[in-house]
Amino acid sequence: MAKIELYDATLRDGMGGAGMTLTAQEKLRVVGKLDELGVGFIEAGFPASNPKELELFGMLAEQRLQHAQIVAFGMTRRRGVKAQKDVGLGVLADSFAPVCTIVGKSSVLHVQKVVRASNKENLAMIADSVAFLVGKGKRVLFDAEHFFDGFELDSAYALQTLRVAVESGAERVVLCDTNGGSLPGRVRDVVGAVREALPKAALGIHTHNDSGCAVANTLVAVEAGATQVQGTINGIGERTGNANLITIIADLQLKMGHHVLPAKRLARLTDAARFVDETLNRASDASQPYVGRHAFAHKAGMHASGVRADPATFEHVSPAVVGNSTDLLISELSGRAAITEKAAAAGIAVGDGADGNGFVARVLARVKQLEHEGFQFEGADASFELLMRREAGRYEPLFRLESWRVLVEQNAEGHLDTEATIKLWHDDRRYVRTAEGNGPVNALDNALREAISEFYPKLADVELVDYKVRLLETSHGTGAVTRVHIDSQDGQSTWGTTGVGENVVAASWQALVDALEYRVQPAGRGVAKAKPKAKAAKAARARR
Ligand SMILES: [Zn+2]
Repeated sequence: MAKIELYDATLRDGMGGAGMTLTAQEKLRVVGKLDELGVGFIEAGFPASNPKELELFGMLAEQRLQHAQIVAFGMTRRRGVKAQKDVGLGVLADSFAPVCTIVGKSSVLHVQKVVRASNKENLAMIADSVAFLVGKGKRVLFDAEHFFDGFELDSAYALQTLRVAVESGAERVVLCDTNGGSLPGRVRDVVGAVREALPKAALGIHTHNDSGCAVANTLVAVEAGATQVQGTINGIGERTGNANLITIIADLQLKMGHHVLPAKRLARLTDAARFVDETLNRASDASQPYVGRHAFAHKAGMHASGVRADPATFEHVSPAVVGNSTDLLISELSGRAAITEKAAAAGIAVGDGADGNGFVARVLARVKQLEHEGFQFEGADASFELLMRREAGRYEPLFRLESWRVLVEQNAEGHLDTEATIKLWHDDRRYVRTAEGNGPVNALDNALREAISEFYPKLADVELVDYKVRLLETSHGTGAVTRVHIDSQDGQSTWGTTGVGENVVAASWQALVDALEYRVQPAGRGVAKAKPKAKAAKAARARR
């Protein structure tokens, strides 16, 4: 069976989706995650379309990757310009990226209406561009844009565009369903016809989901002979999105018998999918195949008892192979196991006896209630641990709050001042501290630390590294509810906390206090000894 190459387009095509944006730093983290997963090609974008891309390529050049090759993406040369003089091709040639994908026209409609070149000139544009980059030592992939629509209009011409790309040195030609309207039967026929016409060419497939068939079209293309699949994580992309690489990987490996990833890395699929959503500050699709939170959820009753007796009764694959799990909290049984496991990890002993069951039931009930209010503990393990500690009576509050207050003042010139005052008690002593900040949460954080660093000096190491806000839709018409997520670190470990409320500052306060309280609990994972980094942490806070 042919080896299938994985090609990720999340950072280029995926960014075409509405509201999708990542900083260069965030893109670098996604690259790291995709590399860890074992993706072979990562399309990072055009190396010079804006300062952000320039910065990204600068950082990528320094990055050591285990599995992935970075791909620079560009277009065939412009009409009437020599390849050597084409600015875009020059940028690709100068880039550090060892692989270049260039997109060109394969449909006569686009050649005539969009490029306004003759059919012959378009072929020369493809041939010159591929040959130029190959001559510069690049591995070149040719993306045949609108291939399936072009094949319909003039199959001989569409095939000719592939042929000149291959003859000019492209190592692979990628058939693109750019408008995403094709159906699987058609894709299978066309890929089969290409195979027959160009038996030696290595083929790739790049589909969009406009007819809801992007994944299916990719799979049938593989059956018909394509050996590279292109897609984006979670199917993000323009309009209705690209082919979902996550689903494709699982289908190829678990259903079609292709070995695309070693088992150990396939088990990171869920983590990779959720990481990308988290980085995009976007809610994960709970119903997403294989990796969604509900992908292996079973409601109480016959399904749950069936799964308990034998998972194969109601699960098409074992969730563990893709790193997912049977739903933790809706299903009573697995919920219990998960809580017992997490309690043990936090150093909370849960007996098998009546007391243990009572604890688990209380935690389950509390989680259900909080989830109803809008909490979500995925990624907020520290808040979940604190919840368990409160129920187990193993919780040490950091302080006793009297009150907090935040003032935000803007003058006529637009100058903003933010100031927070906090009043709290520790060991029968009252602390009143006021601090400024660049926003309400930052000011509260500064005031709180000024007070508590006197009695918990080690909290000076804690650094808030990420802060995210999500507005939740409420079904009961009480107005919007805000969920805040904070990631903190101390140089050794990272932990997530959450807060929910109608007021964004109050929700942030909960997450902030959890972040610091977690750090001082007796056996929390965050209390491992950390080297004193007070200065660095202070500097980082000042920048926030
Ligand atoms: Zn595309």
